[in-house]
Amino acid sequence: MVGASSILGKKKKIALIAHDNMKKELIDWVRENKEILSGHHLVGTGTTSRLIEERTGLPVRGYMSGPLGGDQQVGARIAEGAIDFMIFFWDPLEAQPHDPDVKALLRIAVLYDIPVANNRASADFILSSPYMDKEYERHLVDFENVLKDRVNLFNK
Ligand code: PGA
Repeated sequence: MVGASSILGKKKKIALIAHDNMKKELIDWVRENKEILSGHHLVGTGTTSRLIEERTGLPVRGYMSGPLGGDQQVGARIAEGAIDFMIFFWDPLEAQPHDPDVKALLRIAVLYDIPVANNRASADFILSSPYMDKEYERHLVDFENVLKDRVNLFNK
């Protein structure tokens, strides 16, 4: 696929997102893991990124707020190969106005084979993985051939 690398480098690009009821938990987790996370490049949806910056002092590049399109921006960055893994504490107890965007983001993360943590235990396991300090090759769909097949379908 044009422009996307399937290698996750040693310095990871990490997306951080939390729904409102989960923000405190994510901020606490980031604070606990500040030292490790400071060696990586952090991005996040608008409110989450701003709060993490303010409360932990770590720099986080912010996209738009999730309900205003931020989840879709993060999804687009994953498709472009610009995000290596995602910590996304979505709320299991409350529906969100942007639930379709949440589903789309989780789908794109699976499609592009990036590690995703949706709760604290998974986030701890990811952060303690030996792959955190190594390169890792993702298993990508052959997008170029899929595209070719699809175009051929319409050229018959
Ligand atoms: P927020 O968005 O960080 O702007 O609150 C998170 C989300 O709801 O996806």
